Amino acid sequence: MTATIATSQTILVVGGGISGMTAALEAAECGREVVLVERSATLGGRTALLYRYFPKMCHPTCGLEINLRRLKSNRHVRVMTMVEVVSIEGQRGAYSVTLKIRPRYVSEICTACGDCGAAISTEIPNTDNYGQDKRKAAYLPFAMAYPQRYVLDPSLIGTADAEKAKAACKVGAIDLAMQEQTVTLSVGAVIWATGWKPYDAARIQPYGYGRFPNVITSLEFERLADPNGPTGGKLLRPSDRREAKNIAFIQCAGSRDENHLRHCSRICCMASLKQTQYVREAHGDAGKSTVYYIDIRAIDRFEDFYQQVQRDSTVTFVKSKVASIDAAQNGDLILHGVDTEGYHRYASTHELVVLAIGMEPESSGITLPTDVITDSSGFIEGSADGGMLGAGAASSPLDVNRSVQSATGAALRAIKVIHQTAGEEA
Ligand SMILES: Cc1cc2nc3c(=O)[nH]c(=O)nc-3n(C[C@H](O)[C@H](O)[C@H](O)COP(=O)(O)OP(=O)(O)OC[C@H]3O[C@@H](n4cnc5c(N)ncnc54)[C@H](O)[C@@H]3O)c2cc1C
Repeated sequence: MTATIATSQTILVVGGGISGMTAALEAAECGREVVLVERSATLGGRTALLYRYFPKMCHPTCGLEINLRRLKSNRHVRVMTMVEVVSIEGQRGAYSVTLKIRPRYVSEICTACGDCGAAISTEIPNTDNYGQDKRKAAYLPFAMAYPQRYVLDPSLIGTADAEKAKAACKVGAIDLAMQEQTVTLSVGAVIWATGWKPYDAARIQPYGYGRFPNVITSLEFERLADPNGPTGGKLLRPSDRREAKNIAFIQCAGSRDENHLRHCSRICCMASLKQTQYVREAHGDAGKSTVYYIDIRAIDRFEDFYQQVQRDSTVTFVKSKVASIDAAQNGDLILHGVDTEGYHRYASTHELVVLAIGMEPESSGITLPTDVITDSSGFIEGSADGGMLGAGAASSPLDVNRSVQSATGAALRAIKVIHQTAGEEA
């Protein structure tokens, strides 16, 4: 089915993470009409999957909650989830956008009671926990998900469990006949806030990710530490579900490396410094974190946090690029390398190894219009005529604070495009 929404002078924001939400809100609070499209079932992006934020160590729910409140009270933003951009044609001030809306199989009248999930037994890998556990195939992505509406995984459709879910819904919100839709949109400016994805750790062969179960990524560790994560917040190692107390953090895993990502992802050092404090939180003085680093990049206001972690007696810093990892018999891991402060070789044993994995621009499912310029790593700079803009981690590897700044700047530039092209039309 094809529908057309005529929204002249509208700004389209693609991606509903912290950057997309910010760009949409800043433009809408200036009175512009905004359509915010997100391909997953909820807004929030990867920020919503962090346990705590550096440097303040607060939970991401507070920032998310404020933005959701602003969004709900703003009539200028239209939020569309489970939507992807199929194509964009035209130029600054006059784009025609085709969107594909995937079926959620659950309508707006859902009360998020959870009866559909409780009624079924089918489980699917929980992508929000990076596949470390499973969840029901009728699910709410996370407690603060927006919209607060369940979603049925497409694999459920046509099964007996789909009928059970439908029968369990007291308000009749489940529609198993829902179909994919195509929508066309007229917009004046486009903000790409499609974010980032982790570098594929399996490609760093000497570190054995995928071969050694107790080598995990910093993102997987983030979910392990979270009470809403796959282990209820316990730092259990995958091989034997034993609590890991002696943990290695390897910096620049796939970053600043000619064979992998050439760029520095900027946030990985801070993420690992933060995660040493998860180990302290879990085990107190009995925890042991060792950070293997080339140099620590804790710029500007992050320096204080770095110094605070340096004073923590449970944290050791080893200036070294780890050369390789071997497995010991009990699931422990032996890290090999040379400590460049003193130039001595080490073979150090740890119960769990966390790779501080680099950030790449999210590219899956995205076909950028040909006039969009990207940098040498694929981050989006925008179109030459200024009608399309990159924002947040889609434009550069950025922390949340800098993503918000970038998104605010993009909103301002998009508003300028709308004003200028309205003037040209008049
Ligand atoms: C291990 C780790 C820990 C971190 N910890 C912190 C921290 O403590 N503090 C901090 O400040 N930063 C931290 N960061 C960085 C933080 O995750 C980013 O700054 C933040 O996610 C950037 O937000 P974003 O909205 O730009 O991108 P994202 O969070 O990636 O959001 C992008 C959104 O766009 C959507 N999308 C993608 N493609 C499409 C498409 N084609 N169509 C529609 N929608 C699409 C995605 O589904 C997603 O919702 C950490 C990063 C890592 C790797």
